[in-house]
Amino acid sequence: ICPFDSINERSEIDEVKAAIADPNKIVVFQTAPAVRVGLGEEFGMEAGTFVEGKMVSALRKLGGDYVLDTNFGADMTIMEEASELIERVLHGDGTLPQFTSCCPAWVKFAETFYPEFLPNLSTAKSPIAMQAPTQKTYFAEKMGIDAKQIVAVCVTPCTAKKFEIRREEMNASAEYWNKPDMRDTDYCITTRELAKWIRAEEISFDELEDSTFDPLMGEASGGGIIFGNTGGVMESAMRAAYEMVTNEDAPNTLIPFQEIRGMEGAREADVVIGDKTLHVAAVHGTGNLRKFIDHMRAENIHYDFIEVMACRGGCIGGGGQPRVKLPQADKAREARIASLYTRDSEVKVKTACDNPQIQALYNEFFDGKPLSDKAHKMLHSHHFVSRVADLGPNGACTPVTCPTS
Ligand code: SF4
Repeated sequence: ICPFDSINERSEIDEVKAAIADPNKIVVFQTAPAVRVGLGEEFGMEAGTFVEGKMVSALRKLGGDYVLDTNFGADMTIMEEASELIERVLHGDGTLPQFTSCCPAWVKFAETFYPEFLPNLSTAKSPIAMQAPTQKTYFAEKMGIDAKQIVAVCVTPCTAKKFEIRREEMNASAEYWNKPDMRDTDYCITTRELAKWIRAEEISFDELEDSTFDPLMGEASGGGIIFGNTGGVMESAMRAAYEMVTNEDAPNTLIPFQEIRGMEGAREADVVIGDKTLHVAAVHGTGNLRKFIDHMRAENIHYDFIEVMACRGGCIGGGGQPRVKLPQADKAREARIASLYTRDSEVKVKTACDNPQIQALYNEFFDGKPLSDKAHKMLHSHHFVSRVADLGPNGACTPVTCPTS
C-alpha cells in the first residue's frame, strides 16, 4: 500500500456507464464472493454485514441487464481444480504440491519470483476468468442473446483482476466465436468504485429492497461462498475431491476447522480422502508465503495442495475493498470472514458437485465432465511459463518510479 495514497486503481465506471447507455449492448455484471461482505461498510454498516440482496438491487438500478454470481464461477473453478488434484495425487499425473491459481497477484508473483513452481500451479483459471467466457457462450446461447452484444463487467474486491482480465489468454470466448477482438471480461470495477458510483447516482443503499441474482449462473454452493476467505478455496477443493473420489457427501469433520480457518499466516492440516491422506496448507500474504516456502524447502516437507492468496485474510482483504485503518483492520477482516462462513452454514448445497446448475452446465456444455477437451480450452490456462518476467542481471525487477517522489 502506497503510504501517500497516490497509487490507485484506474476506474472504468465511465466505460461501463457508456455501455449501459448504448441500446445495442447488454451489460452483464458478475459479483465476487467478498464484495457482499465489504460493500455495506462504505455505507456506514458494521464490518462484515452481508448485503448481497442490496448489492444486486443496486447493480440493477445502475442499469445492469443481468446480475450473475461469481460464486457460480467459483464452483466451476473447484470442479476443475479438484479434478486436477485427483489426477495428480491418485493417478500420479503431474507435479505436487498443487498450488492454487485463482489469485492473479500470486500467479504473477510466482511467474516473477518462483518460476520453478510454475509446473505446480493448477492450470484452472480463476472464478471470474471461468465465469466470463461461459457467460459469452453457454449463457448467451441459453438466453438467446447475441454474445457480441454482451459487455461483461466483474465487480471484485481485487485490484489485480484489472490486470488479469487483460492477460492474453483470457480470450476463450473469442476463440469460440472466432471473433479475435472479443474479450472474456470487458471491465473490472472494485467494491470501493461500486460504492462511489452508487453514491454519485444518489441511490440510498441502505433503503434498497433485497433482490436476487438472475437464475442462470446465479446459484452456488457453500464451497463457492467461502472462496473469499483465506483457506476457503482449499476447503472447497477438499469437499469436492472427497465427493468425486468416494461418491459420498463430504462429512462436516472432513476439514479440521480450528487448524485451517483463521488469520495465522500459514495453516496446515491432514485431510483423509478415500485411502489417501492429503497434507494441505493455506497461506495468505506474500511475506508469509516466502517464509512458508523457505521452511518447506529447509525441512523438506511434502504437501499435496497449497492455497495461496496474496491479500491478508484472502479476497475479503483485497486492495479494492473498503479501507480500514490499523489497528481495526484485522477486526474488520475477521468480521467479513465470519460473515461468509455463516452464509456457508445456512445453505443446503455445500459442494460444487452437488450444485444442480453446475451439473446442468457440464452435461449440456462441457461434454459431461471436468477436464474435458472443451473444459480445457475454455477454463484452463497453459501460458504461465512463457510469461516469466524479464528480470535484470541481479534478479531485480524493472524499477518503478513513485509518482510523489
Ligand atoms: Fe485479488 Fe487479493 Fe483475492 Fe488475490 S487475494 S484474488 S490479489 S483480492
